Amino acid sequence: MSDLIELTVTEAAVRIRSGELSPDEYFEAYRRAAAGDSLNAFLWTAEDTAQADLEGTRAARDERDSERPLDGIPVAVKDIFCTEGIPTTAGSRILQGYRPPYTATAVRRLRDAGARILGKANMDEFAMGSSNENSGYGPVLNPWDEGRVPGGSSGGSAAAVAGRLAPCAIGTDTGGSIRQPAALCGIVGMKPTYGAVSRYGMIAFASSLDQCGPLTRDVSDAALLLRAMEGRDPCDSTSVGIEGGIELPSREDLKGLSFGIPRELASDAEGIESGVQEVFERTVALIEELGGEVSETELPHAPHGISAYYVLAPAEASANLARFDGVRYGMRVDADDLTEMYEETRAKGFGPEVKRRIMLGTYALSSGYYEAYYGRAQRVRTKIAEDFSRAFERFDFVVTPTSPTVAFKLGAKTDDPLAMYMNDYCTVPMPLAGIPAISIPAGVAPPADGGPDDARARESATRLPVGFQIAGPAFSDSAMLDAAHALEMAIGFRRNGTAT
Ligand code: GLN
Repeated sequence: MSDLIELTVTEAAVRIRSGELSPDEYFEAYRRAAAGDSLNAFLWTAEDTAQADLEGTRAARDERDSERPLDGIPVAVKDIFCTEGIPTTAGSRILQGYRPPYTATAVRRLRDAGARILGKANMDEFAMGSSNENSGYGPVLNPWDEGRVPGGSSGGSAAAVAGRLAPCAIGTDTGGSIRQPAALCGIVGMKPTYGAVSRYGMIAFASSLDQCGPLTRDVSDAALLLRAMEGRDPCDSTSVGIEGGIELPSREDLKGLSFGIPRELASDAEGIESGVQEVFERTVALIEELGGEVSETELPHAPHGISAYYVLAPAEASANLARFDGVRYGMRVDADDLTEMYEETRAKGFGPEVKRRIMLGTYALSSGYYEAYYGRAQRVRTKIAEDFSRAFERFDFVVTPTSPTVAFKLGAKTDDPLAMYMNDYCTVPMPLAGIPAISIPAGVAPPADGGPDDARARESATRLPVGFQIAGPAFSDSAMLDAAHALEMAIGFRRNGTAT
């Protein structure tokens, strides 16, 4: 059974299709692993295959349609995706007990490709956070070191895949929430081009930034999931899909490709740990060995990404979260009159970070300040997008560290929202520009905050994964996956921390 759990999705799918592996046996192996979750990665897990196969799937599966590329694959679904009849909380107490009447398009497409819902993954409340400590249901632990955070906001998805509780997962990325937890947990995480995957049924945080994407053991698995999910959806007018679909990666070298290193997000960036920097430089050298051309470039406005993001995202969130009023969904605190009921429900249901963002966002949108904050942040956003366009005239891709640090200790940044926001320094510019980006595990490094006092424990336990980020122009998703695949093969990352 432990062997089954080591298979990638691509490998398992081949065995299932050839009849060598029973989908029920495979599901059962993961169902048991997920039921024994000691990382708090799941908020709900399927009790049996009947629950995992949403309505309509079972009949189709009985026909054993061999064309279905994800037939029998269990998937962990971030709890921000609506799943018909299955509890969906977005990590918030305000949605406790909510069971949606419909299923998100991204999940429906996975299901149509044959996948089964293994569980709903824990997350920062309404996807606001970088450590999963903002969940209304307790933090998720990092499987590499349970005293550390898995990253956020898709921390449950990342921990489940890295901790062998799920073969693959989906999450959402607004400012880095797929790529950063993937980096901190040593797995692959991809944010597709804005519009590649439908947002229908994905509980909205900041609608102009939110994108759904895969968290997987390797790049081929990410491509497989994205291939099933992408596409135009009449229920989301911003979804356009990817022309020609997603091709499965096969590249073995990087000949003919050029990579720019934006100095603002690499050498000139403050706060990048030396261990992270070393792994980054080693990986850049590997790109050159694979025949890729590398040189420095600039994204002059990227350092303002965090400031713009933390105006725009809260502004959109403050509008999106107005719907949680105690009337339509989940929790209600009864009171004497309607206004009081709204106030008490929201006071009790939302956590402190969500309240902070609603207040910031409402302020930024108020009539006297709209131009000074929201208007200006939108202009910065345009500048950042123009910087990327200019860089992509010269380079096929830009590369950066995914996160300035490796996984940090639980509680280390909870009292300092600004320090927490800096986690997103390298990941926020891409969603502001709407472009795709992927994080792949590139090596391990000791944390700068030191490990346990016991020297032996330090030796074995404190080398933590480091992510390497590749970003490309809008709709270059297939080409980006292909390049990431070649690099991943050369890195040869192993979960035990050895990279060949
Ligand atoms: N960490 C960022 C935030 O707190 C990004 C979150 C996300 O991408 N959903 O907003």
